[in-house]
Amino acid sequence: MTGPMLDRYNREINYLRVSVTDRCNLRCNYCMPKEGLSLLGHDDILKYEEISRIVRIAVSMGISKIRITGGEPLVRRGVVDFIASLSATVGLSDISLTTNGTLLEAFAAKLFAAWVKRINISLDSLNAEKYTLITRGGDLSAVLSGIDEVRRIGFSPIKINIVAIKGFNDNEILDFAKLSIDKPYQIRFIEFMELGHAALDHSSQYLSNTLVREIINGIYPLEPVNSKRHKGDGPAKIYRIADGAGEIGFISPLSHQFCHSCNRLRLTADGHLLVCLLSDNEVDLKGPLRDCCSDADLADLIKKAIAKKPINHDLACDEGHIKKCMKDMSSIGG
Ligand code: SAM
Repeated sequence: MTGPMLDRYNREINYLRVSVTDRCNLRCNYCMPKEGLSLLGHDDILKYEEISRIVRIAVSMGISKIRITGGEPLVRRGVVDFIASLSATVGLSDISLTTNGTLLEAFAAKLFAAWVKRINISLDSLNAEKYTLITRGGDLSAVLSGIDEVRRIGFSPIKINIVAIKGFNDNEILDFAKLSIDKPYQIRFIEFMELGHAALDHSSQYLSNTLVREIINGIYPLEPVNSKRHKGDGPAKIYRIADGAGEIGFISPLSHQFCHSCNRLRLTADGHLLVCLLSDNEVDLKGPLRDCCSDADLADLIKKAIAKKPINHDLACDEGHIKKCMKDMSSIGG
């Protein structure tokens, strides 16, 4: 590697999110349509060796952090061994995981041994009935046990991601915020984005993080946390409630666009490199890979993808939604 990998807007690209499956054991109603989505066939999904090869080349070009996601990554057989094998990639400094947490209790110790120390858990309600409703069948107690287990084992940071949805969990904002007082978790509110087929039915439920922050601040005054200490937090703006054990983060892709600092690429389960979460612009790596292309060819394709990174996403947060992105979140991995 000769230096940082920069895109045409001088952003350093050092972060790759890898979706290992499009399958999920939940059916969150804003993420997947009720009838489910047509799933990829076995041969359409990248094999672990194929992902490893892409990762190795991407790391040699400047990627230093990988996040494993899905679908639900823990439903793919062999995923922990795969992660353990990735951790040996020379130049890779960080592997983290995003999960819905339902299988975490059983996997936590093995993940920790496979060098995953940082974990994000998606959790949209603290009420068991509402959780089952939004996930179409999920069991809140399994997720809470998973969170307890990763804390017991020593994962850090533990980030809990909530998609704020008007009329669904806006009455739980303070309950989530309170969690950060007692527990050393980073509670992160994420703005709902209109992407994928299921999201179209929920567009009127967008809730701005400006409002979420005001609601919390009205009861628990928020202190900004020094952002230099939080290089690993990406686009989240971090606060804490005075004397809280944990923190509160706001990820606001619509109300406070952070594209100027975007450092990421996304590899989909079917082997496409996506240059922006909110764009359908992608580069196929699987085809060339299976046509026996060389490492240099793959590196050229990665460069080609980076050259396509737009300066901004073009979803708007007001009445004038100027574009909808039709790629489904469950195939990208968030
Ligand atoms: N199964 C894993 C999980 O639950 O974290 C990884 C995949 S899931 C698609 C990743 C994240 O995307 C979840 O936190 C989910 O809430 C979020 N998500 C899905 N659809 C979204 C949307 N339309 N807007 C914002 N976040 C969304």
